[in-house]
Amino acid sequence: MYLIKTLMGDITKVTEVQAIVNAANNSLLGGGGVDGAIHRAAGPELLAECRTLHGCETGEAKITKGYNLPCDYVIHTVGPIWNNSMKLAMDNGIRSIAFPSISTGVYSFPVELAAKIAVHTVNRFLQDNPDCFDLVEWVLFDTNTESVYEAEVDKLYEEYRLCQKN
Ligand code: ADP
Repeated sequence: MYLIKTLMGDITKVTEVQAIVNAANNSLLGGGGVDGAIHRAAGPELLAECRTLHGCETGEAKITKGYNLPCDYVIHTVGPIWNNSMKLAMDNGIRSIAFPSISTGVYSFPVELAAKIAVHTVNRFLQDNPDCFDLVEWVLFDTNTESVYEAEVDKLYEEYRLCQKN
């Protein structure tokens, strides 16, 4: 069994996951928003490792160590393709992972749609790969975004309850 949940907060501070996902840009050399926060909290060694990766194509994901972050790994992804981050985590034996609200900051993708796609894509991945993960959480930076993701996760549990009844 796995747990999917949401919480409000700063993704650089979460302590219960092995990996956090970074909404990075193609250069992987740092930026604003959550990317900037992750680089600041991880320290300069993260940037040094990112330099060796020679960027990341849109839709792809790359993994580094977490350095001064509480987590062991950072999965850097460019654009809203959640499957690739989940696959990379699974291939590295990671069983607990935290996502920010990818693409709804500077990139301006609508939060409602992003939350729906993110939660459903990740849930499908978990169903297709049972016993590979213990925890997937979304760490949201403001109350509105948190309530939108929370509503999507609640819907999943509601569907699950209905399935159990039928
Ligand atoms: P993108 O280019 O994918 O839109 P942003 O970093 O601009 O990336 O925004 C993605 C989301 O991350 C936004 O909802 C933003 O508020 C949020 N965010 C910014 N800093 C943090 C942080 N430290 N922890 C969690 N979420 C954050």
